Amino acid sequence: MPASTPFVAPEELARRHGVKEMLRLGANESAFGPSPRAIAAMRDAVPLTSWYGDPESLELRAALAARHRCALDEIVVACGIDDLMGLIVRGFCAPGEPCVATRGTYPTLFYHLSAYGARPEFAEPGEAGGMVPANIAAAVQRSGAKLVYVANPDNPSGAFADRATIAALRAALPDDVLLFLDEAYADFVDPAHLPPDTIDPRTIRTRTFSKAYGMAGARIGYALASREVIATFQKLRLHFGVNRTAQIGALAALADDAFMRGVIAEVARGRDEYHALAARHGLPSLPSATNFVCIGIGTKRAAEAMVEALLQRGVFVRKPWAPPIDGFIRVTVGTAAERAAFAERFAEALDSVREKAAG
Ligand SMILES: *Cc1c(COP(=O)(O)O)cnc(C)c1O
Repeated sequence: MPASTPFVAPEELARRHGVKEMLRLGANESAFGPSPRAIAAMRDAVPLTSWYGDPESLELRAALAARHRCALDEIVVACGIDDLMGLIVRGFCAPGEPCVATRGTYPTLFYHLSAYGARPEFAEPGEAGGMVPANIAAAVQRSGAKLVYVANPDNPSGAFADRATIAALRAALPDDVLLFLDEAYADFVDPAHLPPDTIDPRTIRTRTFSKAYGMAGARIGYALASREVIATFQKLRLHFGVNRTAQIGALAALADDAFMRGVIAEVARGRDEYHALAARHGLPSLPSATNFVCIGIGTKRAAEAMVEALLQRGVFVRKPWAPPIDGFIRVTVGTAAERAAFAERFAEALDSVREKAAG
């Protein structure tokens, strides 16, 4: 394997650019924090940091089972979706085997594939960067892959495939193909548009407390799957990997629906503002079902220059890595104040990128 640093963190970028504080709009972290109830519960939990967490995350799994109307042994809790993703690759994709994924989607999958000796088989994305069921089915057919990854809603495009589309995709795949549905942003979508909460033995769905719940630093997420699939996680997972404070915070966060509704409404407002900002500058933006929006700058080079120009102004954003949306930058919804600051620095950065391109 070649050496690589998959993600340069905002802390490192701040050091490199000599700025003290970054406007952190590059990793889709929540600008609205965890629920105050989760914060209080975690604060109360800190003195017992001397204890390991419950390796079965039983209380949390019970709450999740009630929420998703499934059985306890159809849920596994882990250190976020990234952790689950590694386990899924280890458990269901042998070295040398392909895993089908849409070109341009969430890159962490590809790091896991590479680290475990498996390989990606790309399905080409649609015009707005999202997955195309027919392309996925074709990639499965030509490669013989037994694992398919779909992030829905997708990152970095923000595209969303509704319940009927996911059902059609599942129906188009052979029964011995496992569909890994990464639903990191599902909390931003009306549940009526998501796949129903029935456990399908051919599908793994993953969820996280990192995005809408605002607990990325706590590292906690879960998978919903059949008992047989969950049994595979039990063989591979780090049983004491999930920290106790995170378990307690997640449990409290689940109970605060009002807070969640507030976050979702504010994120929708923020997306609208970003779409309007792009339009004011005569730029396209992609529809998004998430807490971020992709704004089209032009070519790949122009978008890279824009990321750099924003960094120089203390703003951390990232950009999609593959065509047809590699001429876009991806901006996380911040607070109202952060959005206002972003709009200002976006205009300055755009001017500087356009001047350089012209001159
Ligand atoms: C942010 C993100 C993740 C990572 O989730 P964690 O639970 O923090 O590991 C996984 N998948 C997608 C698509 C994401 O955007």
